[in-house]
This record gives sequence, structure tokens and C-alpha cells, in this order.
Amino acid sequence: MRQRSQTRRRPKLGGGASTRLRSAPTRRSFHFEELDEVTRDWMLLEFREEQRLPHPYRSNRLTDAGLEAWIPIMEIAISEGDETSLAESLRQPSMLRNREPYKKGYRAVPWDAHYSLAITEFNTWYVRGLARRLIEEGVPYCEAYRAAPASEPRAECEHLEEQVFLVQHIYEGHRARYWPEPGDQTALSIPVGVNCHHTIRRHPANYVQN
Ligand SMILES: [Zn+2]
Repeated sequence: MRQRSQTRRRPKLGGGASTRLRSAPTRRSFHFEELDEVTRDWMLLEFREEQRLPHPYRSNRLTDAGLEAWIPIMEIAISEGDETSLAESLRQPSMLRNREPYKKGYRAVPWDAHYSLAITEFNTWYVRGLARRLIEEGVPYCEAYRAAPASEPRAECEHLEEQVFLVQHIYEGHRARYWPEPGDQTALSIPVGVNCHHTIRRHPANYVQN
């Protein structure tokens, strides 16, 4: 088994004058029903497998420093943190760009972009890791649920609530909707994209789908 340090490790982020910290967003903690050691180990294994692909996912809002710190930051969040601690790590001003290309010019990156990225990425790995765990345990079905209230629910995923899916389907849908770009809009990915608050839970194995 992997040894886990009891003290909280923090990545060296460099730069980072505290006066330039982004302001903290309203906390809307996610309810992850099985965020335990077993699920975390599967999340970490799956994350590391994705890093070996030719084009592992990277937000185009990350700065060079953010890109460099991405893997250790994600590994710490997956091993011992959550979406809130990940947002804290990403809140450092050196991590995300201030501006991004938009149409023919540029626009400001939203003030809470670090939070959006944190909840989406942490949840993405929770779903992938839990789906892998359920497959390994022989649990065929999972159910989608809203893990936190969304201030602006996305129309494209409201229908997901309480729906039952084959775990394998969700496992294979990992990022398929949007990555590698442009993605496959017909694919089912949970979360469906940035700011989707849906996640999955295990469903009784004796369930029979119509
Ligand atoms: Zn959603």
C-alpha cells in the first residue's frame, strides 16, 4: 500500500504575492458519498494512467507555472484533499491566466475560474475512480445525483438527476464529451463539462434496467 503522510503537503507554487490572490468564492461543498481511501487510490491510479496518454487534459487557462504544478497539485487533492482544497491551490495568482483569447480579441478570465476548474476536475476524477472501483467490485449500475446545488444549473444535464446508468458506460464516457477537443457531443460524460455539479453513487446490484 502507498504510504500516506499525515501532515498536509503543499506544492511549491513560487511567486504568489498574497496581495494578488483571487477572492474566495462562496463555498458550496460537494457531497461525495464514497470519498474514502479505496476510492482515492482508484482515482489516483486513473489520473496517472491519463498522464501517460499523448494528450492528457489540461485547462487552457493554466499559466506555464500552472501547467508545471498541475500533476502534483492534482495528486495531493486526490490523495488527501477535495474540491475546496484544490480550489485553494489554484487560487494562487501564478496558476491561472488573467486573460484568454475570445473571438478576435481577448476577454478577462472569470474571477472564480479557479473554483470552476477545481470542482470540475475533482469531480471528474471522483467519478472516474468510483466507476473503476465499482467495476472492480462487480457492481453494474450507478445513479447520477447532484452533489452540490448549482447557482446556474446547466440545461444540458438537469435530466441526469436520479437516472441509473451502466457503470461501464460512465467509465468510458470520461471526458468524451469535450476532450480531446472538440469532443463528441453525443457522448455521456459525468460531469458533462465545466461547472456541472453531477456525480455518481453506487446503485443496488440487483437492479434490473428496463
Ligand atoms: Zn450537471
